[in-house]
Amino acid sequence: MVESITSGHEAIHLEEKYGAHNYHPLPVVLCKGEGVFLWDVEGKRYYDFLSAYSAVNQGHCHPRIIRALTEQAKELTLTSRAFYNDKLGLAEKYICETFGYQKALFMNSGAEANESAIKLARKWGYTKKGIPENQAVIVAVKQNFHGRTTTIISASTDSSAKNHFGPFMPGFEIVNYDDVKVLEKALSNPNVCALWIEPIQGEAGVFVPHDGYLKSAEKICRANNVLLMMDEIQTGIARTGKMLASDHEGVRADLLILGKALSGGVMPISCVLADDEVMLVIKPGEHGSTFGGNPLASAIVIEALEVVKDEHLAENATRLGEIFRDRMNALMKKTSLVKLVRGKGLLNAIVINDTEESETAWNLCLSFAKNGLLAKPTHGNIIRLAPPLVITEEQIHECCDVIERSVLAFTK
Ligand code: PLP
Repeated sequence: MVESITSGHEAIHLEEKYGAHNYHPLPVVLCKGEGVFLWDVEGKRYYDFLSAYSAVNQGHCHPRIIRALTEQAKELTLTSRAFYNDKLGLAEKYICETFGYQKALFMNSGAEANESAIKLARKWGYTKKGIPENQAVIVAVKQNFHGRTTTIISASTDSSAKNHFGPFMPGFEIVNYDDVKVLEKALSNPNVCALWIEPIQGEAGVFVPHDGYLKSAEKICRANNVLLMMDEIQTGIARTGKMLASDHEGVRADLLILGKALSGGVMPISCVLADDEVMLVIKPGEHGSTFGGNPLASAIVIEALEVVKDEHLAENATRLGEIFRDRMNALMKKTSLVKLVRGKGLLNAIVINDTEESETAWNLCLSFAKNGLLAKPTHGNIIRLAPPLVITEEQIHECCDVIERSVLAFTK
């Protein structure tokens, strides 16, 4: 018989006792989600201001996405790529046309999509650019976050991601983010096959580079025959007010990496998009995934992206993001506890006026939760605030009221 959980305490106890301790969650036990709301096992309702790290841009359990999921689940879920299926080609065509690329490669997690992009970039480097075997370099930037695999953390500068997980994969050079000068030098190395960046660094604390950085990066890549590898796993799918954050500067990546909201949060779906010259360097048997491109994921991805377009979620993110930052700027005039708000669209963060090691941001998030809003610090004193993009103007004001009330009570 399958047991059921009867209290929040019990759920927390079970996770502590039987689960790996690789996360440090807020003490809230959730059991239901709908749109911008989550409910805990005691029946308390919260606004979700994390959106599963931007995987539920379309809102929790979006009825259209759930319908696509259940209808396809009754027909066929997985065949492996040993055979064709009647859904994958449709999803590939849809996503290529949506983002303007010739080929798509579906995977599952964001980390896997980044791994796939690394392999594509390296193989392109050897077979097209003529880099001597095993000498390809990918230029990454400080404070990046691309996932948790051993190769990906080899390019990380975060000690908690790296410590005691070595030895690391060679072939990465790390430069400053948001610094065009360093790119000119680094990308002139003829062994560089790709530049690997996030258009806004989400996990690092929502660092938005200066206007023009992405365009300059694209130009320097072109000038040096280097692929631009853009990780839009967190920033993509309307989060920042455009379908892609790169669209704000009219930048087109050579390798576009997507995940999270590709499924609206109902299952892990990720993808790399590229043109033939890059994607076709990988031949049968050289890369793959049992679940990547399965019919269930294929049906979901089309519906999840259709929802984003039909419900004008990018426009909503732009408009409500401005209201949100205006409200936070007004709050900063009333208290010194919040020292900065930054972001684009509905990917924002507030920086708390305390040391990175302090507990203030964590305690403030506990207070938000008490007042009905869920958010979590990204790094020390930075709180990311990223609701589902289906939030309304009235709701965003209500949430700003909760944040304001909590911050001001905290200040006293
Ligand atoms: N890349 C970026 C920019 C991310 O924000 C994340 C997750 O937060 C990842 C990659 C990793 O995705 P996943 O956790 O699905 O492997």
